[in-house]
Amino acid sequence: MLCDAHVHVGYFQDQYFSPEDVVRGLRRLGVGRWAVSSTSTSGKPWAFVRKEYERICELADKQSVLLLWLTPEMLIQSRDLRKYDVLPFCGLKIHGANGWRVGGQPLRRAFALARERKWPVILHTGGFPEYEAGRFGPLCRTFPDVPVILAHGRPIEQALNVMQQSDNAWADTAFMPLRDVQRLLASGMSRRVLFGSDYPAPACFYKAPLASYYRRRVLTLQRSCGASWPLLARRNFMALFDRPSRKEEK
Ligand SMILES: [Zn+2]
Repeated sequence: MLCDAHVHVGYFQDQYFSPEDVVRGLRRLGVGRWAVSSTSTSGKPWAFVRKEYERICELADKQSVLLLWLTPEMLIQSRDLRKYDVLPFCGLKIHGANGWRVGGQPLRRAFALARERKWPVILHTGGFPEYEAGRFGPLCRTFPDVPVILAHGRPIEQALNVMQQSDNAWADTAFMPLRDVQRLLASGMSRRVLFGSDYPAPACFYKAPLASYYRRRVLTLQRSCGASWPLLARRNFMALFDRPSRKEEK
């Protein structure tokens, strides 16, 4: 079974990817489980986003790990995140583009809430200097018991450095060049790298049909990772999202 740690529904650039589209697409690709958050959060009201998450639960409750895409405004509206407890979220997704400051109090508060709830935090990395992986090193060290996934692992030197300093830092392979994946594996990080695709976002960046892109990407990674592939494709996902401490509290 293939597990994808980085999947979205919702509005992205000028396209809309409904929960139906995404669930159907992933199932056709043979993906068994996925961690999903809504890109609609950046432009749509919570009531809209909530419906998307509810629909995912209706369609694929067992297969989906719901991640709450959190903005600073959402944290102001619900300082303890209780407003969002209507859905079975299992982690936070944080994107710097929503206005988080890396050294700011709101982001520290989000991490403290994640710690309380034993949730991992998925952080977007790359694209702008303020979202580079190295900037998140101090947060990883301040919250050693919060698993932090440096999505995309950009730039790779910084991501690797943070992972070497903090056992709680992970990376996912979404849009990651093969040589960077290799670099992580060669540096002994195979237990903290997750296969992630950013599905369906590649549809907005590549000409090839999404399903062909995805299949090719999986095959290439599988070949290139060799014996480590089952870790990236499945076992690390389960180690992160099926931690016994979390299950007990459900
Ligand atoms: Zn993403």
